[in-house]
Amino acid sequence: MAKRPNFLVFGKPNIGPEEIAEVVATLASGWIGTGPKVEKFESMFKKYANSRYALAVNSATAGLHLALKAVGIEQGDEVITTPLTFCSTANVIIHCGGTPVFADVDKDTWNIDPDEITKKITPRTKAIIPVHLHGRPCNMRAILKIARKHNLFVIEDAAHAIETVYHGKKVGSIADITVFSFYATKNITTAEGGMVTTNNKKWADMIKVMRLHGLSHDAYKRYSVKTFKHYQAMLPGYKYNMTDLQAAMGIQQLKKISSFAKTRKKHWLRYNDAFKDMPELILPAKDEEDTTHARHLYAILTVPEKLDIDRDRFVEELIGLNIGTGIHFFPVHLHPYYQTAFGYKRGDFPNAEFIGDRILSLPLGANLTKTDINDVIEAVRFIVNRHRK
Ligand SMILES: *Cc1c(COP(=O)(O)O)cnc(C)c1O
Repeated sequence: MAKRPNFLVFGKPNIGPEEIAEVVATLASGWIGTGPKVEKFESMFKKYANSRYALAVNSATAGLHLALKAVGIEQGDEVITTPLTFCSTANVIIHCGGTPVFADVDKDTWNIDPDEITKKITPRTKAIIPVHLHGRPCNMRAILKIARKHNLFVIEDAAHAIETVYHGKKVGSIADITVFSFYATKNITTAEGGMVTTNNKKWADMIKVMRLHGLSHDAYKRYSVKTFKHYQAMLPGYKYNMTDLQAAMGIQQLKKISSFAKTRKKHWLRYNDAFKDMPELILPAKDEEDTTHARHLYAILTVPEKLDIDRDRFVEELIGLNIGTGIHFFPVHLHPYYQTAFGYKRGDFPNAEFIGDRILSLPLGANLTKTDINDVIEAVRFIVNRHRK
């Protein structure tokens, strides 16, 4: 087959002249730190997410850390999450002195299985962090029911789920606290950045203080007011604030969110259609009724019984054909630190391992053309045909 002339970069951001103009205007404005652009981005975002509060931070990881601090996670507490996620979902639990406890995923949806959560609850369990993997909503009805019964906080890792809607409710308005990511590869980006949403004033106030050194007021207000005032550390806070340069990008990206989503959905359906008759691949599950999938990542599983190569070799062959891919994810419990510190081993979470061994993500960005998607389809078909057992 004819190889693409250039490498198709996986997860390339979609930046237009509007983002560039807003960033340049911010640079020229004389204020590049946390200020009016951040405030504007937050107010746009809380409307979008349908939440009472939206607090910008410098990453989703920082946001998850602050969310856990806000609900009071501390030494000795256990927090239940999925092993099939990015390591930072679990790392932040450790940052609070807590213990990450994994609950296996559902084999079809690849999301945390509520029955597995129930099995992991102990008197020390304080919170659950569901991750809406690839943009598919978790079974929030079951998760919220478990949380109410056992008095647990629910903090959503919505790094993939900015556009996700669950039975009429926007992700960001369902759980106690929700955290979004604007990392470079995410559905919208600020290069680095995140947003925390909640309807709880106490948590919103705490996060506001903790994200900027624990000071009683934020920097913009400190330096722009004309009257002198002391600003004091209320807590030993963190340096997790977003800058106006980042917010300038976010403001323009958020305006484009539905057009990006439309394009990614088209690509998604094209992949589904192209691969539907290939028993060598397992495709993403159908969408649950009355939900909107954010279509952040299109991942397939390779079926080792039907191919003479494994997933890693499949990825290498795709790269050889100039197609970039990603693995989302290598299960967290199998990372060296987690094996050493917590004694986790292969066999502990069979479904997450089954998926983690077979999964690979295909390019899905809104800046990809129909030709790009066709190149990916051709490459996948070529590899499958060549390696069919
Ligand atoms: C990207 C990602 C994060 C971390 O986001 P940052 O903004 O890079 O900190 C957390 N969880 C999941 C599932 C992610 O994909």
